[in-house]
Amino acid sequence: LARNPGEREFHQAVREVLESIGPAVDKHPEYADAKIVERICEPERQIIFRVPWEDDRGAIHINRGFRVEFNSALGPYKGGLRFHPSVLLGTVKFLGFEQVFKNALTGLPIGGGKGGSDFDPKGRSDREVMRFCQSFMTELYRHIGEYTDVPAGDIGVGSREIGYLFGQYKRITNRYESGVLTGKGLNYGGAQVRREATGYGCAFFVEEMLRARGESFDGKDVVVSGSGNVAIYSIEKVHQLGGRVVACSDSSGFVHDPKGIDLDLLKEVKEVRRERISAYAGERGGDATFVSGRSVWEVPCAVALPSATQNEIDEADALALVKGGCVAVGEGANMPTTPAGARVLQEAGVAFGPGKAANAGGVATSALEMQQNASRDSWSFAHSEERLRDIMTGIHARCFETAQEYGMPGNYVAGANIAAYARVAEAMLALGLV
Ligand code: NDP
Repeated sequence: LARNPGEREFHQAVREVLESIGPAVDKHPEYADAKIVERICEPERQIIFRVPWEDDRGAIHINRGFRVEFNSALGPYKGGLRFHPSVLLGTVKFLGFEQVFKNALTGLPIGGGKGGSDFDPKGRSDREVMRFCQSFMTELYRHIGEYTDVPAGDIGVGSREIGYLFGQYKRITNRYESGVLTGKGLNYGGAQVRREATGYGCAFFVEEMLRARGESFDGKDVVVSGSGNVAIYSIEKVHQLGGRVVACSDSSGFVHDPKGIDLDLLKEVKEVRRERISAYAGERGGDATFVSGRSVWEVPCAVALPSATQNEIDEADALALVKGGCVAVGEGANMPTTPAGARVLQEAGVAFGPGKAANAGGVATSALEMQQNASRDSWSFAHSEERLRDIMTGIHARCFETAQEYGMPGNYVAGANIAAYARVAEAMLALGLV
């Protein structure tokens, strides 16, 4: 704590991992001898930089840029960029720390990193966003590369931003290095299913958790928070798997649509027009209502997929979910459940899939994008989705079996943390004291 004052979210993420890896540490004294825990909690490198840019009226703005290169034992640093006014160093460190474990769980050769800025893209024109991205990359380019560090999107960074960032990287370096960023558009090196991957992957993971309990999505009401990239594609896949999503949200409130969310309308409002979720309720009509400023978790459901941001399910929300009959929670977002909320859900016997397992489909498909870029290949949608499904089934099995092996059956948090920690620790041991 004294070494990293004020980094509340980072402390929370580290504590959650350390609380569950005890049995693995006991079983492997060689990890303790090599001070793996101490090393894994310390980023290999942290970069903080100034991002000056000019808005459409000619006014100058100064934002702060971050890239935390956390751990490269398994491969190049890999993780998204977040553009949101709430971003602080501690936010990026918590996300980077989580990313190390998540990437290890995928079984693919990727290390962990994360970055971003306190820039707020909301209400900014395309040209302003482009100027910001160009200024951000003018510093970031020297730290990244296909073999070094490969950023992608996160909150506030979608295909528009990745396009501008890639354009500036290409311009500065005079290299068409497709593998330097993932989440690219399909016509310049992007991969099929990358846009859908985190949401689809989360739905696949929850389907596996339900299967392990002898259940399925069939006929179940589902609530998804957020209405961004992860939320939209979770909703799409849940509908395909037989569930019905009856509510979703943004930071202004939520829509309750008992007949099931109309996905075409949601995409039109959020992806094309970039409007608020209230516009959806207005246009949908019928029984759909917009509820301002309240928590989406008050809507009863069998499955909850928090897909907006960190700490969005607190103890009271978790109690409301349990009361409403919730049997499974899949974290589409990173660390969306507070420690007290997670305790309530686990004690009530809810199948609880932590983000580093349930939302790993995005980064896994990013690694597939890198693979396609390296071989100048492009796979079909069906093949890419099949790969994603296999990866998510594999992650579920790894978490489930590890929890069982360590005497904590059904505890996906412990299973995910121990399995991921062991994979990174083994690689760190093999690479020596670096
Ligand atoms: P988007 O920017 O596409 O969407 C974010 C959504 O969450 C929006 O609806 C936004 O509402 C809402 N939201 C964001 N911040 C807050 C907040 N502080 N309070 C309430 N609502 C908020 O981001 P993504 O869908 O890409 O990311 C969502 C989550 O998933 C994040 O935790 C991210 O780290 C995680 N994730 C994303 C991956 C990806 O591939 N994109 C991969 C793995 C995890 P509003 O528009 O009103 O701000």
